[in-house]
Amino acid sequence: MRNKTFNVGIILLSLLLLVAIFFYVTLSAEKDNVLKANNKQEVKTVEVKKEVHQGKNDSVASLNEEGKASAPDNHEKAAQKNVVPDSTRASAVSDQLQEKKSVPREFLVVIDPGHQNRANTAPEPIGPGAKEEKMKVTGGTSGVTTGKPEYKLTLEASLILGQMLESRGVKVIYTRTTNDINMSNRERAEVANQNAADLFVRIHADGSTDRNVHGLSVLTPASNSPYTKAIFSDSLKASQFIMDETRKNSSVKVNGISYRGDMSGFNWSKVPCTLVELGFMTNPTEDKNLSDPIYLKSLLTNIADGILQYASYK
Ligand SMILES: [Zn+2]
Repeated sequence: MRNKTFNVGIILLSLLLLVAIFFYVTLSAEKDNVLKANNKQEVKTVEVKKEVHQGKNDSVASLNEEGKASAPDNHEKAAQKNVVPDSTRASAVSDQLQEKKSVPREFLVVIDPGHQNRANTAPEPIGPGAKEEKMKVTGGTSGVTTGKPEYKLTLEASLILGQMLESRGVKVIYTRTTNDINMSNRERAEVANQNAADLFVRIHADGSTDRNVHGLSVLTPASNSPYTKAIFSDSLKASQFIMDETRKNSSVKVNGISYRGDMSGFNWSKVPCTLVELGFMTNPTEDKNLSDPIYLKSLLTNIADGILQYASYK
């Protein structure tokens, strides 16, 4: 009887133990599955985050990112449509930037020696769409002492100025290199436009009925001229740099800046422009000075300095 009870007790205990082991095994298996599942989800989240991150790198436009998130079906199409061209464009831009870094862009100045050996009195509009007309190109003044015509002095001075600029790394194009030419003020401005000059510099000399009047002036487009609105401020900047540099020269009298809305050579220009009146050929001393190579070169050095100041400002 004792033995029987003992045996039944053992059997019951063993059953209990089996049940306990069964539950333990089942529970831990389930726990494992839950953990594995969680891990999978985590991996998934990481992958999605990675993708979104890469997407941002590929495309600057955040709109593409929003498109990807809200419409996963269009993901591929959106990616192909927007991301690929954008990244291509981005790499093209960075290539251009690298090129710019390694090869500095040349600064181009178009120099216009004022006038020519024969005036052309035929009319041309003073600006695009203007009803008002002016002579295509006037004869200019001449030296009271030297007898030199303005067109000769302006060509001499322009060629020296051009050489000075070229020796300092500036690219130079002249509207004319000979006196025997027929070129209107509009056509001269077109040379600057067609070459997309960084600056259009016109070289002239002044004349007056009063022999006492003398000094250098810098002419610049007027602030209220309808033709030169886009180039007004840059032109003024260039004019100011040139004037400031010439003021450093104690042997040159500087009269200052004159704002002009009536000049065809300015009004037809689409690039920043300025005009230097080197001095009065009707003043005996200044006329002589302008034909003195030392005085002329020293004055043109100031003008070249002003142009280079403008080039580095740009
Ligand atoms: Zn002139």
